[in-house]
Amino acid sequence: MTHTHIAHYIHGAVAKGSSTRTQPVYNPATGAVTGEVSLANVADVHAAVAAAQKAFPVWADTPPLRRARVMFKFLELLNANKDKLAHMITAEHGKVFTDAQGEVSRGIDIVEFATGIPQLLKGDFTEQVSTGIDNWTMRQPLGVVAGITPFNFPVMVPAWMFPVAIAAGNTFVLKPSPIDPTPSLFMAELLKQAGLPDGVFNVVQGDKEAVDALLVHPDVKAVSFVGSTPIANYIYETGAHHGKRVQALGGAKNHMVVMPDADIDQAVDALIGAAYGSAGERCMAISVAVLVGDVAERLMPKLIERTKALKVLDGENLAAEMGPIVTDIAHKRITGYIEQGVKEGARLLVDGRNFDGASAGAGCKDGFWMGGTLFDNVTPEMRIYKEEIFGPVLSCVRVADLAQAVDLINAHEFGNGVSCFTRDGNVAREFARHIQVGMVGINVPIPVPMAWHGFGGWKKSLFGDMHAYGEEGVRFYTKQKSVMQRWPESIGKGAEFVMPTSK
Ligand code: NAD
Repeated sequence: MTHTHIAHYIHGAVAKGSSTRTQPVYNPATGAVTGEVSLANVADVHAAVAAAQKAFPVWADTPPLRRARVMFKFLELLNANKDKLAHMITAEHGKVFTDAQGEVSRGIDIVEFATGIPQLLKGDFTEQVSTGIDNWTMRQPLGVVAGITPFNFPVMVPAWMFPVAIAAGNTFVLKPSPIDPTPSLFMAELLKQAGLPDGVFNVVQGDKEAVDALLVHPDVKAVSFVGSTPIANYIYETGAHHGKRVQALGGAKNHMVVMPDADIDQAVDALIGAAYGSAGERCMAISVAVLVGDVAERLMPKLIERTKALKVLDGENLAAEMGPIVTDIAHKRITGYIEQGVKEGARLLVDGRNFDGASAGAGCKDGFWMGGTLFDNVTPEMRIYKEEIFGPVLSCVRVADLAQAVDLINAHEFGNGVSCFTRDGNVAREFARHIQVGMVGINVPIPVPMAWHGFGGWKKSLFGDMHAYGEEGVRFYTKQKSVMQRWPESIGKGAEFVMPTSK
């Protein structure tokens, strides 16, 4: 098999860079190396930032409507190439093709939102704040902004960032995950085809070396990060220390509460899809089922049966419900957590470690495969409850009532997403009001907010003040300026030494 070389994208063209470091890219379904990705050095990052810095003044001066028109064209191109992008995702990430299509769609939503930038950038205006004086605010772009993104959504998460940032008049440097880097280059090409001027969108492939170079570069004015909590914390502290605006979205441990009055079949469907979809490698995956009262007795037999019946297949097989784990390292980490859960005394009801890759499809014998794993009787002291496993492992915790469920979730260090299945309106309302989590679903297992609402968790799931995309995204990528104006005719005589007030 020929290996593709995946390089950077700087000033409107693929760039080899000067670094000689590379990393293999795998197809997780087969375990085969399919490519080699460059890992940028400091000089490569400086070249990308310089291209973005050079492009900034003209792009920032381009009327928002013209910037929006580039986004409209990009939107058309994305729609036309949706399946191509989805196949790229499946090839390097492993998630099933239909799920990859869903990822691309959710990214496209944000581009669609960004086409409304002229409306979103409108400031406010007050006539006559004092006699003859008007005051208004406007929002202006920051300059060069950087996005550092995780492996699990190689299209959607970058699309949480760059469409809004660019439409708002910034220029962008994306540092994608080196695990699945190919879609980033394809999106760069589509942006160029859409008429985006060279240098407005750049990609540097790489690892910590590239990230550190971005974090300290004086021309990078803001950093958006999505990834695991320890790195999010590091990005937030380091970026802020170097004077940058930072939003750093971290890891998660999302609970789904099932109340005794919930529809059991719907709850089982929701748990199976949300725990094992994308092999649990979603920051909004449900990894803990909180079973209230007697619900476990009715739900557990069905959950066991469905977990065992999961169709774990090559992601390109349209019948697949779950694909492989992204890397061998992640596979070992998840396997380690399953061992740990057994040691800690949780009840292992379905063991995904027994899964044979050969059954997933032709050529899959050496891929990074496992089946769905189900634990019962998990308790809050266990590591499998406290830590993010980021794999197809669902832990069931039993509690007596809603109050215990809410206390349990509120005590957890993560607060990304949460869900409650019930038929009781008051339970739903109280749950949504009192839960200490950023994104809440009522009978919705994965409540990822739509493009115009903004995405963000609480507690250790987000460092920074503003959520991704939506109007929060527009605020993050712009700074407010207030202008107060009067004309010579309205200026009185003499110097004023007191604080001006409305006259
Ligand atoms: P990761 O933290 O390992 O990597 C994220 C990015 O940081 C990548 O671009 C990576 O190259 C870079 N990076 C890794 N180590 C670094 C270091 N030491 N210094 C500087 N940069 C470094 O995360 P991942 O494994 O790619 O993605 C999975 C994680 O992302 C999970 O924890 C998941 O919950 C989280 N995630 C969160 C959200 C959210 O919105 N909160 C969304 C998606 C994923």
